[in-house]
Formats: sequence, C-alpha cells, structure tokens
Amino acid sequence: MHRRSFLYHTGLFTGASLLFQKSALATMLNPFDYKIRMLRNNVGIFTERGGTIGFLLSPEGTLVIDAQFEDTAPHLIAEVQKRNTAPIKFLLNTHHHGDHTSGNIAFKGIAEHVVAHQNSLINQKNVAEKANKVDKQLYPDQTFDKDLKLKLGKEKITGYYFGPGHTNGDAIYHFEDANIMHVGDLMFNKRHPFVDRSAGANMRSWIGDLERLQKKGGKDTIYIFGHSLNEGEETGSAEDLKKFADYLDKVLQFAETEFKKGVSKEDFIKNTSIPGVTEWSGQGIERPLTAAYEEISSK
Ligand SMILES: [Zn+2]
Ligand SMILES: [Zn+2]
Repeated sequence: MHRRSFLYHTGLFTGASLLFQKSALATMLNPFDYKIRMLRNNVGIFTERGGTIGFLLSPEGTLVIDAQFEDTAPHLIAEVQKRNTAPIKFLLNTHHHGDHTSGNIAFKGIAEHVVAHQNSLINQKNVAEKANKVDKQLYPDQTFDKDLKLKLGKEKITGYYFGPGHTNGDAIYHFEDANIMHVGDLMFNKRHPFVDRSAGANMRSWIGDLERLQKKGGKDTIYIFGHSLNEGEETGSAEDLKKFADYLDKVLQFAETEFKKGVSKEDFIKNTSIPGVTEWSGQGIERPLTAAYEEISSK
C-alpha cells in the first residue's frame, strides 16, 4: 500500500500527512540532499557528501573552505553566488583527500586563488598522479608552512599548521572575528576516523594538535568538523575536541596493551569495540585500530 493512502485509511491524517507533505515539498524545492546552515557573522557551512564545507560571504568577496566532490561543488557554488554577488576570492583546502579536493575543479575560472598547506599540495599531486587523475585536479596556487594570514572585508582569516595528525598536511582555518575555526578532518565527531599513514598521519601527534586547538579557541569558539556521525553535529565546542583526543588516546592505549601481550595485528583489528569508548560508533573501527597498531609496533 502506498504511504499516502495508508495514512488516509488509518486516519493519521493531520499530523503525519502534514509532515509527509512538508518533506515532499522540501524534496521538490531542493532535489539534491544538501544543507546550508549559517553560524554567525556571515560564516556558514554546507553539507552534502564528503567533508563539511565552510564559507564566508562578504561584500569584498566569498571565501570557501573545502570543495567535496565534482558533482556536489556546483551546488555550493550556486548557493553562495545566490547569496553574494561578489566574486569567490579564495578556495582553501584543509587537506588533500578526495572528499575535500575533488570538487576543486568546479572552481576553475571561478575562484581567484586556491590555498593549502604545502604538504597537502604534495599529497594531492602524488595521489592524482598514481590514480591517473591529474586532469581532474585544480591545485593550490598558494601554499603555506607554519601559518597564513588573509583578510576579506572585515574578517581576518588565519591558517595554522600544528604538525602531523590525520595526514601530514592538515591546515586549520580560523575566522578570527566570527571566532569560528574549521579544523577539517582533525575532527571526526562520534565517528571512527580515517588515519592516513600513507600521507604521514600520526595519532600521538594528532592528540597534541587537538590540545593546541582547544587552547587556540575559547568558550565561545565554534569549531567546524570535517565529519560527523550524526547530521547536525558538524559543529561543536572545545569539549568535543577533548572527547575525540581522549578517544584517540584510548585507541593507542588499547593497541599498546594488546601489542605487548603478543596479539597479532590481524587479530587486533578484528575487535569490535575499544575499552572505555562509548560515544564513538558506526562503521570503520578497523581503520583506527590498524593505524594505532602500526604506529605502536613501528616505534
Ligand atoms: Zn574527509
Ligand atoms: Zn581526510
């Protein structure tokens, strides 16, 4: 039976049907499943598939952080252009992974500059060359090492690099006036993270990055996270970063204990839980387990 006729026949008419009509209307108005949420001072986020995109709209131009995929980036571009007629001045990448930079190509001829950490550019080139996808890339034309300073309208944007974490090229971008920090994939909210050892990731150093990030911000800082298990939790506070640092520490401790007991990597990564971890769930637990075991055993 069709949902609609089921609703009519069971007499759940008002509430449920109204809800159904509302979601049907939403699908009609927005055939793609993306969401935009403004945070403050004209800084907002865009979510569809891949890493959370951050953006700033100002009369002097638009700045975008990360680009998701080639087929989702045009949705973001259309939305920011609807809201701001000034040109897209900057596209910043938090790191090279495809769910953050595959959409760069959609900014070709649109964004005036593409910026990333110097290691992110090296990684992006390496991966693209291996995958034979060089023609699908738009590479950064500006890179930085320790820090970066940009100004757009009234907003000062600072880029930081704290050393290896999720990769060896994770940049953090801070909208100083709005007090919002995009931390990219240094934060997986309640979701097991990717740990890209092939691109220089290091979990112990990652914990240190998260500690520095908490100190950089204050009580009022809004952090934008690369990924979140639950929709709507793509932003949060220093408290969330602390929880994730604790999680990483527990994964490393677990690997160390089991490694010392002589447990093989093959057996270790079959674990389906991590002692003391309750808030991180979903798929992909083998990823941090594998990385932690490799990190511990190669010491
Ligand atoms: Zn990602
Ligand atoms: Zn990533």
